[in-house]
Amino acid sequence: MRSGRVEDYVERFASFLADEVEPLEAELAAREVGTPFNPRLDEAGRMHPAVWEARREVQRRSAAAGLYAPHVPSGGGFSRVEMQHVEEFVYRRSGLGLGLAALAWTEGPNAAIEHCSPAAREHWLEPLLAAEITAAFANTEISVGTDVLAMETHAVRDGDDWILNGDKAWITNAHFADVMQVTAVTEPGAGTRSLSMFLVDARAPGVTRGRDIPTMLDDGLTGELHFSDVRVPAEDVVGDPGDGFALAMTWINWRRMARGGMCAGWGSWLLERAVDRARTRTSGGRPIGEQQAVAHMLADIDADVYTARAASLQIQTELDALPGGPYGIPLDHAAPRLLSLIKVINDESFYRVADRALQVHGGSGLRKGSPEEKLFRLARNLKIPAGTVEIQRNAIARGLLR
Ligand SMILES: Cc1cc2nc3c(=O)[nH]c(=O)nc-3n(C[C@H](O)[C@H](O)[C@H](O)COP(=O)(O)OP(=O)(O)OC[C@H]3O[C@@H](n4cnc5c(N)ncnc54)[C@H](O)[C@@H]3O)c2cc1C
Repeated sequence: MRSGRVEDYVERFASFLADEVEPLEAELAAREVGTPFNPRLDEAGRMHPAVWEARREVQRRSAAAGLYAPHVPSGGGFSRVEMQHVEEFVYRRSGLGLGLAALAWTEGPNAAIEHCSPAAREHWLEPLLAAEITAAFANTEISVGTDVLAMETHAVRDGDDWILNGDKAWITNAHFADVMQVTAVTEPGAGTRSLSMFLVDARAPGVTRGRDIPTMLDDGLTGELHFSDVRVPAEDVVGDPGDGFALAMTWINWRRMARGGMCAGWGSWLLERAVDRARTRTSGGRPIGEQQAVAHMLADIDADVYTARAASLQIQTELDALPGGPYGIPLDHAAPRLLSLIKVINDESFYRVADRALQVHGGSGLRKGSPEEKLFRLARNLKIPAGTVEIQRNAIARGLLR
């Protein structure tokens, strides 16, 4: 059941797409700079600036319309179940269009930043909520991904300030972010209390953006960041020193939960397109959907989308009901298993969905730039960022065995 405010949100979002996004999408198409999800890349391998700017314009308009950040307390305070309905609607309705930019993704505000100081709220969080600026979450390093606590980036106190040094890699929005949410070691050897989170001004002396790291997503958004003796004022520490690991998990868990609505929305969109193809493409004078082999692929897609969606709604209902909810610090002991269940269920079922959807389309499913080809690459990607599927199994088993 969708709540009244979800109903209101989706109605307003649908009008926003028609009135504000479609004209921008038409303008972008006329410029031959690629599409929002298959952009042309510039000579440095980065998303074409015109595509980035079109996305930014949608974000600003969406924030002005009150649609950009329903997921954070300061933006709307929707529960995770409400967010699953919102995300499902947005992904299904937008497909791979510019409309997706209207709902804050990793470049927008998030539950971790909400722990910032009053000064940082004014300086960073409010402009993020208004989509005047964008953020990047900088946790991973070249030699440290899964093993977060082994990171080398570190910060030491200097009076009221902190001096930050280190190199981050695989960072989404490294090329464009105005503020970086950086995790760094501040108390070596203190385990899950060894890290702190800093909000770092991209223009601060000592911050440099590194090379693009091209991935199979081909979106020109993933890159390196370098911090050399960067001075960070105490007011830009998020939470307290030592909270960095818990805050990083808050961010990562947001991305895990967002899989529920995203995979339900894109999954339904792919199913709709596959059914349409099965009805209209013929072989031996009959629609391919009359071949049992093809019909069964449709049934398997339906079963995967249905079960992953239902499981995600159930799990997010349980997470919302926990003391402190899904973003509690400390996190309720029942949460990690549930969060990892959402991720592994969606990553693996959406991979099967995207694979079968592509197969139903035959050769045209492989055509570069087709929705099926793009979503197949995206589905393969999902199993790695925000914690690999293997790591999710570790957390699920830990939850069962504790
Ligand atoms: C497109 C993209 C965008 C990304 N965006 C961001 C971002 O915005 N910010 C950010 O900070 N990071 C980002 N990342 C990094 C991402 O979070 C890491 O790639 C991911 O956490 C895995 O780390 P790794 O690549 O170092 O793999 P590794 O940790 O080296 O893992 C390699 C393999 O070993 C397995 N493995 C490792 N340790 C264990 C273990 N203890 N038990 C069982 N198996 C294990 C893994 O499951 C995997 O199969 C992004 C990555 C990609 C590809």
